[in-house]
Amino acid sequence: MSETVIMRNGSEFEPGMEVADKVRDVGLGDTPMPQKTYVQCSCGEKYEKKVLIDECPHCHMTYAISHASADDPQNVLAAGIDY
Ligand SMILES: [Zn+2]
Repeated sequence: MSETVIMRNGSEFEPGMEVADKVRDVGLGDTPMPQKTYVQCSCGEKYEKKVLIDECPHCHMTYAISHASADDPQNVLAAGIDY
């Protein structure tokens, strides 16, 4: 199983919100990630991302990835704190 570390920085405009909305709409937010993925959060912490929508355990920045593109972890997007 491959391991990927992705780097994302939070910003005022969070494109991940749209992704999170879509994935939640179809009820797939808790779908496991297809591969082991770590998110290097903008707060400086790294955590293992286990499902399509989850959040950094340290700063609660939400990270979302579309079920349609979950096989490429580079598509993970920040969706905002506690989104
Ligand atoms: Zn964080």
